[in-house]
Amino acid sequence: MRCPQCGTENPPGKIVCRNCGTRLRTGMAAVLGAIPEEELMRRVRQDLRKLLIVAGVTVAVGILLGILIR
Ligand SMILES: [Zn+2]
Repeated sequence: MRCPQCGTENPPGKIVCRNCGTRLRTGMAAVLGAIPEEELMRRVRQDLRKLLIVAGVTVAVGILLGILIR
């Protein structure tokens, strides 16, 4: 979440800018908005981990096939 005032990148779910203190969200939107955003980040991280596992298995199978074919 980038601060509109100073351009500092703040962690997701942050309500005020850690650099200048400008409000990034207002009122209930801040409370309601913080939860899905963190949930989203958690899901992105999980997907990324799955992707890494799939990539790792693909590389391992590729190496194994390379050895078997030779
Ligand atoms: Zn700021």
